[in-house]
Amino acid sequence: RKQLASRVSTLTPSTTLAITAKAKEMKASGIDIVGLGAGEPDYNTPENILEAAYQSMKDGKTKYTPAGGLPELKDAIIGKLKTDQGLTYERNEILVGVGAKHVLFTLFQVLLDKGDEIIIPSPYWVSYPEQVKLAEGVPVFIEGTAAEQFKVTAAQISEAITEKTKAVIINSPGNPTGMIYTKEELQAIADVCREKDIWIISDEIYEKLVYDGKQHVSIAQLTEDAKARTFIINGVSKSHSMTGWRIGYIAGDASVVGAMTNLASHSTSNPVTTSQYAAIEAYNGPQDAVEVMRTAFESRMNQIYPKLSAIPGFHVLKPQGAFYFLPDVKEALEHTGFASVDEFAKALLTEANVAVIPGSGFGSDTTIRLSYATSIDQLEKGLERIEKFVKDHW
Ligand code: PLP
Repeated sequence: RKQLASRVSTLTPSTTLAITAKAKEMKASGIDIVGLGAGEPDYNTPENILEAAYQSMKDGKTKYTPAGGLPELKDAIIGKLKTDQGLTYERNEILVGVGAKHVLFTLFQVLLDKGDEIIIPSPYWVSYPEQVKLAEGVPVFIEGTAAEQFKVTAAQISEAITEKTKAVIINSPGNPTGMIYTKEELQAIADVCREKDIWIISDEIYEKLVYDGKQHVSIAQLTEDAKARTFIINGVSKSHSMTGWRIGYIAGDASVVGAMTNLASHSTSNPVTTSQYAAIEAYNGPQDAVEVMRTAFESRMNQIYPKLSAIPGFHVLKPQGAFYFLPDVKEALEHTGFASVDEFAKALLTEANVAVIPGSGFGSDTTIRLSYATSIDQLEKGLERIEKFVKDHW
C-alpha cells in the first residue's frame, strides 16, 4: 500500500482542536465539562447578518462567485480598511478566502520556496509553523518572554533575519498572548523590515477585541513603505462571531494577491457564496454587536483576572486584547509534580473536568491558555475547579 506523502508526516494536529474535541466528546457522554479551550465568541452571529444571508439565498445568489471574492465584498473590506485604518486599497489588492486561516495557508504557498524562512515570535498561534512547513518553508522562532509581555523586539527580529528570510509574522492583539504591540514597537519593527527588505505578515484577526481603552494599530498604517511590504490578514470570525461562516481576507501587494487568487481558483473556487453575502452585511451594516461583545469580554476578563492570579503557582499578565489568559504555571507544575503542561492539562480535563489548552502547542512549555469567551458562570466554576485541583495536588 502507498505511504503518506512526506509533506504530512511531520504535521502535528492542532492542539486546540484536539483538546476541544476531547472535551466535546466527554460532554456528549454526560460529563459536566467547563470548556475554556475554544477560540471563538460564545455569541450567535448578529441577527442582521443572518437575515442578509437568508435574503441572499432567497434572491438566488447561490452560485459560484469570482475566486477572490465578490466585488461588493471586496468593496466592503476596502471601506472597512479606509474607515478603521485610514488605508486605501484597490480590489486587486484584496483576496477573500475561506477564513483567515486558509488565507494564510494560501499566502505561504505562493510566497515560499523550499528552505525559505518565516520568522515567528513565540508564543505563537498553532497553525503558523505547520502552514509554513506545508509550503516547504522553515519556521524560525524568536521568543517573547513573560518579562517582555510575550512580545519580541525589533532587535530580536533583526538578529534572526538571514538571506533566506521572506517575512516576519506579527499577531497583535495576540493569540495566545493577549498582548498588543504599541505603535512605537511596531515602528521599530517596520524600520528593521525596511532595512532588511522583508515582508510583514500582520495577523489582525483580534483587532476589535482591545481593552482598557487601548487602540489597535496596524503596522501598515505607519508609513508608505510599511504598507507596501505588509499583508494585513483579518476576517469576520472573531469580530462578528462568525467562526463557522469561514470568511477571511488579505490586503496587500497586488502581484502576490494575484498569485493567491490564481491558486484559489484551483483549490477553493470561491469562499461560500452565502457567507460572502453575510460578510458584506457584517462590514456595511450596524456595528453595535461588535462593541457589545467586546464590552462583555472585557468585563468578564476584569472579573476573572484577580481570581486566576490568586491560584497558587499561577502567574498571569493582564490581557490587553483578544480573549485569552496565558498564565505561566511553572511554579504550579513544580509543586504538583506534573511533568509538563500537557500532563497538567490532560489531568485537569479528566480529573477536574476543565478544558484548557497546554502552551506546548504554542511553543511555550510553561503556560496554559484559558479562553474567556464563555459565560461568567462557566468561568467562575472553571476557576474554582482549577484552584481545587491545584491545591489537591500541591
Ligand atoms: N489568526 C489567529 C491568531 C487566530 O487565533 C485565528 C483563529 O483562531 C485565525 C487566525 C483564523 O481565523 P479564521 O480562519 O476563523 O478566520
